[in-house]
Amino acid sequence: ALPAPAGAVSTSVVGTATPATQDLVAADKVLMQFGGLKALNDVDLHVSRGTIHGLIGPNGSGKSTMMNVLTGIYVPTEGAIAFKGQSIVGRTSARIALAGIARTFQNVQLFGEMTALQNVLVGLHHTYRSNLLDVALHLPRFVREERTASARAYALLKFVGLESLAGEEARNLPYGKQRLLEIARALALNPELLLLDEPAAGLTAPDIKDLVVIIRKIREHGITLVLIEHHMDVVMSVCDIVTVLDFGQKIAEGTPAAVQANPQVIKAYLGGEL
Ligand code: ADP
Ligand code: MG
Repeated sequence: ALPAPAGAVSTSVVGTATPATQDLVAADKVLMQFGGLKALNDVDLHVSRGTIHGLIGPNGSGKSTMMNVLTGIYVPTEGAIAFKGQSIVGRTSARIALAGIARTFQNVQLFGEMTALQNVLVGLHHTYRSNLLDVALHLPRFVREERTASARAYALLKFVGLESLAGEEARNLPYGKQRLLEIARALALNPELLLLDEPAAGLTAPDIKDLVVIIRKIREHGITLVLIEHHMDVVMSVCDIVTVLDFGQKIAEGTPAAVQANPQVIKAYLGGEL
């Protein structure tokens, strides 16, 4: 099981709980313009709690850009983005992470000279530092939590099957293991929403099998996922719903089987680089 979060801010304040019917993410009419290029053009993306929501499309269709606007790396040119009913447009990436959105990157971004364990601890400490008022009010609890931080980091490594590599420098891990380590680090933030940008890219077949199991386990812990993935077998086996982008526009949405059979989607892929 996922270990209990050590430094987590309580998000379940009675009376402010999100209505169960509200979408966890509600992005509406999002435009992301880079000069003359509309990387996202009037895109709506609604993610329901507890789902694994696929985001697919040919290369350059705007998938990573969508994750970048959801995590504050880019501020959309136009459009609204709400997370748990609150607008996150213009918030910093750090604040968005603390609000409950964690991610991995298409190009792995680990601290290469740090060990696997230290990389996960970075995620944990990010949560602690943000919580200084809480620390001041609950000092004994904070000290206790600091002591348990490395235990929790180990537990997260174990969750992704990397406990035996805890002491290895991240840069020395095989690529597939680095991708799993990024997932462990993201989980250290105790997110409600986890965004995975092509987690199976460059993985061996056995690593992909492990990844699918891990993705399912993450959802079983109540974490909602958005998954960008080119491996259609992974999309087909784990996603509840899939949104398809092409040239920055949403061209289809539905079950994996429905979108895979959609003529417009097939045409987009045949014309694309996949
Ligand atoms: P995908 O992840 O679907 O392959 P991206 O979201 O990375 O596609 O990119 C969508 C389009 O936006 C591409 O044409 C890409 O070159 C462009 N793009 C992405 N980020 C930037 C940026 N920072 N500046 C300029 N163009 C960008
Ligand atoms: Mg991408």
